[in-house]
Amino acid sequence: MNTQQFYINGAWVDPVSAGTIEVVNPATQNVIYQLANATSSDVDLAVSAAKNAFTHYSLIALNERVELLEDINALLIKRSDEIADAISLEMGAPINLARNAQAPSGSQHFAEMIAVLKTFRFSNTTNNGTFVRKEPIGTCALITPWNWPLNQIATKVAPALAAGCTMVLKPSEIAPLDAIILAEILHEAGVPKGVFNLIHGTGASIGNSLTSHKDIDMVSFTGSTRAGIAISQSAAPSIKRVALELGGKSAGIVYGKVDASKVAQQIVDSSMLNSGQSCNALTRVLVASDQYDEVCKEIIQCMQGLSVDMPQHSPNLGPVSNAAQYKKVLGFIQSGIDSGATLLTGGADMPSHLEKGFFIKPTLFGDVTPDMTIAREEIFGPVLCIMKYQELSEAIEIANASEYGLSGFVWCDDHDSAVSIADQLRTGMVHLNGAGLDASAPFGGFKMSGNGREWGAFGLEEYLECKSIYGGAKN
Ligand code: NAD
Repeated sequence: MNTQQFYINGAWVDPVSAGTIEVVNPATQNVIYQLANATSSDVDLAVSAAKNAFTHYSLIALNERVELLEDINALLIKRSDEIADAISLEMGAPINLARNAQAPSGSQHFAEMIAVLKTFRFSNTTNNGTFVRKEPIGTCALITPWNWPLNQIATKVAPALAAGCTMVLKPSEIAPLDAIILAEILHEAGVPKGVFNLIHGTGASIGNSLTSHKDIDMVSFTGSTRAGIAISQSAAPSIKRVALELGGKSAGIVYGKVDASKVAQQIVDSSMLNSGQSCNALTRVLVASDQYDEVCKEIIQCMQGLSVDMPQHSPNLGPVSNAAQYKKVLGFIQSGIDSGATLLTGGADMPSHLEKGFFIKPTLFGDVTPDMTIAREEIFGPVLCIMKYQELSEAIEIANASEYGLSGFVWCDDHDSAVSIADQLRTGMVHLNGAGLDASAPFGGFKMSGNGREWGAFGLEEYLECKSIYGGAKN
């Protein structure tokens, strides 16, 4: 695989200067390969290629864009197993999860964007007779994280291509192989040269030169709130659009009569999927005091039934993705213990059958109070907090007392009450009674969880500018 070069202007090219990043397998802690590390000179080349390509690509017909996306999607499906293997190797996703969810997510977003393109209205006429057209915003910088690597790339590349934008992708330096495969796919599908460019690097090496670049019209970023703030500041002087999908600390409220065993299973599924490394993961569970013991008992039982193992064995949980994340999550577990929360299962010690790798046991804390660090900060690992409430209003207040606002969860047998609780949550998404995500619905958050919306038609809108043409409507 081409880890030593960048894909710029339709060809694989050497970096302008030498410099590499070590990519590590989190299950073995072994270095897998060296990745080329870009400098601002590489950024300039990639941005220039994308800018030049915009003149032509922004004008290509809608049916040609649909055909291009269809060709890409067919190749994504064809190479799905290879993509799954790459993701599993680099970020430690259990191979079954990589095959059944991580890799197919790319194709799902492309398929959704094809469907959107076929019906999307790129123009309309106002009540006063002005013609309003939606046009591609221009040259985009797309910056993505490691946790659902292809998912996050596809939710940017598919709408950018669909809108008629050109782009420079900088994937996570921790899990870039799926992006390299995607570049090969786009090349094979016949994406015109310069439309899609791929460079590698860290936030420190090229973050600023990419996001402040005068020829970048929009930055779409998924990652930590810390980096989102830095990117917003770097982009501000050039008044470019910045779409942010950031962290979360999502809460779930269990209210009224529920099937405790079913709810516990859904709670554990949501919080432990991908070893807890999902921005929208359930991380805080609020349970009425009279149901607390029963729900805790069921959750403990579910969590203790989860396997933690090498990714190729298809466990429930693989390792967390990198050394920094491992250290950070273990620090949070210690903080939970030190602050007086009750460790109900799991903990900071390595699972006994494993000797190395960044493995962490599914960990559950009870008697968590809203002031504790583990109740406030994003942990991004397999750690769940349970909190007690007396009145529903208190549960809603605790759920909303977070600087984040990405997702929320409600379990309640009465549908109207469940919807009423959802209405009161200050989050971009709410799951009622275990309902899953929908690729056609907007994905994104309130507050410090970001300002963008991805997926489906809402995702396409992010890459469009409006132009009012007064007198432009046909009579
Ligand atoms: P990160 O912010 O460290 O890195 C994300 C990407 O940004 C990487 O490609 C990194 O190289 C780049 N980057 C870092 N600093 C930068 C800078 N100053 N300028 C430009 N680029 C920079 O995050 P991570 O550790 O890769 O991912 C985990 C975080 O991402 C978590 O906080 C998680 O909640 C968040 N996340 C959010 C969503 C969402 O949709 N809301 C989805 C996935 C992950």
